[in-house]
Amino acid sequence: MQLTNNSLLQTQSFINGQWCDANNGDTFKVYNPADGNLLAEVADAGQEEVTHAINAADTAWSGWRELAAKERATILRRWFELILTAREDLATIMTTEQGKPLTEARNEVLYGASFIEWFAEEAKRLYGDIIPAHGRDKRLLVVKQPIGVAAAITPWNFPLAMITRKVAPALAAGCPVVIKPSELTPLSALALAKLAQQAGFPDGVFNVITSTKADVVGKTICEDSRVRKLSFTGSTAVGKLLAQQCSANVKKVSLELGGNAPFIVFDDADLDAAVTGAVISKFRNAGQTCVCTNRILVQDSVFEAFSEKFRIAVDALVVGNGFDEHTDIGPLIEERALQKVEKLIADALSNGAALLTGGYRSQSLSHGFQPTILTGVNNSMAIAQEEIFGPVATLMPFTTESEAIAIANDTSSGLAAYFYARDISRIWRVAEALEYGMVGINEGIISTEVAPFGGIKESGIGREGSKYGIDDYIELKYLCMGLSG
Ligand code: ADP
Repeated sequence: MQLTNNSLLQTQSFINGQWCDANNGDTFKVYNPADGNLLAEVADAGQEEVTHAINAADTAWSGWRELAAKERATILRRWFELILTAREDLATIMTTEQGKPLTEARNEVLYGASFIEWFAEEAKRLYGDIIPAHGRDKRLLVVKQPIGVAAAITPWNFPLAMITRKVAPALAAGCPVVIKPSELTPLSALALAKLAQQAGFPDGVFNVITSTKADVVGKTICEDSRVRKLSFTGSTAVGKLLAQQCSANVKKVSLELGGNAPFIVFDDADLDAAVTGAVISKFRNAGQTCVCTNRILVQDSVFEAFSEKFRIAVDALVVGNGFDEHTDIGPLIEERALQKVEKLIADALSNGAALLTGGYRSQSLSHGFQPTILTGVNNSMAIAQEEIFGPVATLMPFTTESEAIAIANDTSSGLAAYFYARDISRIWRVAEALEYGMVGINEGIISTEVAPFGGIKESGIGREGSKYGIDDYIELKYLCMGLSG
């Protein structure tokens, strides 16, 4: 890997301001999904090292929370600027270990950094309240205090932004952090830690544990009552398990879990805009995002026209190595992901769906999968109920608006939804009826640090980013002052 700053390539956990091997010397291998090449051997930490990190964070807490918000903001701002300076190296590390096209990686660095800038600013605006009292001899106040040591368990699909989206508000609020990145993409997390070290976070405030023993690390975090908050992004199954484990000590949890985004095209939509939105929301990151379109619902009267335009756009997408500037779609993260996609396609075909295009692995790219469209899909098929997490679009027709809403809401997920329409009354009706935490209206990309990201139903608990995102890392304390004494 060619980097300008080679010190960004770290292979040890970062605990209490030190780079640490696993106590028993264990390591694990990190591979490039685009060619299977070995990239690094990284410290494989276990329970002892996690506890060491929690000890360090707990010790660092009082000093960190006592800083003036502006002092914490200054360190966060420095970290933000160091990330921007290292943008190209961070994007290179990301594309190498995760596979996404370099342009997407560069954008993720900006997106990830934006949360640090935002929460460095928000740190200074954590206002409390003075409440009109219920008696003449009292004064009532509410102050906001940091919740305490915060743990973050993050996935591989956004190796950088999923970390900053959690730890920036935590650090801004005055909480030290213990981060467990995905074992598939630890190098981006460690590069972030290197820059955090340079930014000057006090020892113990910023810790990264690299490990393949996710269950051990997760259990240790959940069972340690000094960790007051767990924020997790990943699969719904693991999220449920972690929430259960956290219930023993009533640890606060934020969960950002799977989605099953509908993308509805109404007959009054601008079809060309809808095609553009559908392509970007479906195929970004090779379809491996939790807000990726999972089901495309198209009104009968425009079904043929939309399908044809969409097929032409999808056939133009280029599968390749993320470093090739022509690449639109990089490799899937691992063999297991390809097998899942193949299984869902086979199941849909055996239940009456048909291939409009694609449906097979790339001949030229390891872990590459050809962008695929299935038509004749219905909501009872596995592919319409499970998160596909690959470059496969499903098309289903509908007749009425209420039918579209019923199909869209017929899922246990509730993260992102999208629809294209122009009638203003319809836009309000549909926006209000969709049971989702986020709705893109004539927009296929909706993520930004200034808006609340999160889901309802089984898609999660809590919101990330925006003025609301810091709430998950604070506790309200009510002060009742009697004046009679
Ligand atoms: P994905 O299918 O997207 O990889 P996972 O939920 O398996 O989603 O992974 C998301 C994160 O959760 C990763 O950091 C992974 O190591 C971690 N993880 C997986 N299993 C567990 C577990 N039992 N306890 C705690 N963390 C886990």
